[in-house]
Amino acid sequence: MEIEATLISEAEIQRRVREIGQQISEDYANREPVLVCVLKGAAVFFADLFRALSVPVRCEFIQLASYDDGTESSGQVRVVQGLNGNLRNADVVVVEDIVDTGHTLRTLMAEIEALEPASVKVCSLLDKPTRRVVATNIDYVGFEIPDTFVVGYGLDYAQKYRNLREIYHIKM
Ligand code: 5GP
Repeated sequence: MEIEATLISEAEIQRRVREIGQQISEDYANREPVLVCVLKGAAVFFADLFRALSVPVRCEFIQLASYDDGTESSGQVRVVQGLNGNLRNADVVVVEDIVDTGHTLRTLMAEIEALEPASVKVCSLLDKPTRRVVATNIDYVGFEIPDTFVVGYGLDYAQKYRNLREIYHIKM
């Protein structure tokens, strides 16, 4: 496995994160949304997006796992650490790193909806629409990408490369 080429540069990522931050701030004007970070992959995106918001905002964290250090989703999504905060009647924005087959998002929505929020929207940095198995709705998408495995800016391969500032293709 080796890193092949930059898919999305640091400047492009930062520009798009600012745009989404502005959009969410406009959409939630006069409200106090709760941003839910899906660990571990979304942590880096979350930290930047959270600081790009100009409305008062709370944060919560949930950890899910679907891969066993490989590159194919097993379809079996585990909740490693659940939500502790109160989301009842809250306006929730789920922040994901990437939506691929959609299995993770489906599990996530069920976890969140069980807590009876007032509304739930989904924000994902990356979207691989051609890989979708479970129909899903994403309200805010950073970038649509082709069916290729990517790392960097929070995304890993076998828990590595999350600290890279750009998003790269990797060659297996
Ligand atoms: P899904 O359940 O939609 O198939 O997959 C979602 C999860 O799979 C993401 O949250 C992410 O952790 C992982 N994933 C999917 N595609 C990629 C990819 O190209 N690179 C990395 N590093 N993780 C991915």
